[in-house]
Amino acid sequence: MSALLEARNLVKRFGGLVATNDLSLNVRSGECHALIGPNGAGKSTLIAQLAGELRSDAGTIRFDGADVGRLGMAARARRGLVRSFQITAVLPDFTVLENLALAVQARQGRHYGFWRRAADEPALRDPARRLMDEIGLGELAERKARELAHGEQRQLELAMALATEPKLLLLDEPMAGMGPEESRHMIALLQRLKGGVSILLVEHDMEAVFALADRVTVLVYGGAVASGAPDAIRADPAVIEAYLGTDEAEGA
Ligand code: ADP
Ligand code: MG
Repeated sequence: MSALLEARNLVKRFGGLVATNDLSLNVRSGECHALIGPNGAGKSTLIAQLAGELRSDAGTIRFDGADVGRLGMAARARRGLVRSFQITAVLPDFTVLENLALAVQARQGRHYGFWRRAADEPALRDPARRLMDEIGLGELAERKARELAHGEQRQLELAMALATEPKLLLLDEPMAGMGPEESRHMIALLQRLKGGVSILLVEHDMEAVFALADRVTVLVYGGAVASGAPDAIRADPAVIEAYLGTDEAEGA
């Protein structure tokens, strides 16, 4: 089976520091692939390279059959390579429904009369409502984004990313800053989305990783030290030594 995303020999340097060190990684269609590793291992740098936010110093990125390594963030997003919590800015004074309707509009690339609110336009409102229900925000439709709890706001960001109809969703620590209840909610949500959309998930909550991931890649000093099924990764002595055994090195 050919990969949806195939990154080869990626390098990213910050001055003398090699943050991504000849890294190769692939994500299959439909897969939830987790990226784990200690603080400073280069996970966020890699996500930024894949999303098109950072230019790589070397290496290639193929996505859905095309070389996207030289494309910017918006062009990659249009092809379905979308980073959540980044590309879709939530408008704080707009309601949940309005934010989602605008995200749907951005995807459609169509303009309706500017005198009409996006949320009043059926072609935008109906898919926005469907997404809202899917994400579990249905009861908060008329709530302003700024009034949402932290976890709800992240759900909205995720829904807005989904409005762009991604093929691969890049998620960098979606549970960051959440309490246990909100985290459980987000894990359940990702579990529902799984399969429908491919996911590359950076997460240091091991419970979440092992609940969600089909495959896990372990990053240390910018290089992949192991990649495989969650159970194999959990039992890999090199992984235990490099990462799982030094859990306390990971910041909150
Ligand atoms: P992780 O997400 O795994 O914690 P990062 O990708 O954030 O790791 O960082 C990898 C390494 O690159 C770290 O040593 C970090 O300090 C460094 N780094 C990240 N971004 C920059 C930057 N913009 N400029 C300089 N160094 C950076
Ligand atoms: Mg990071």
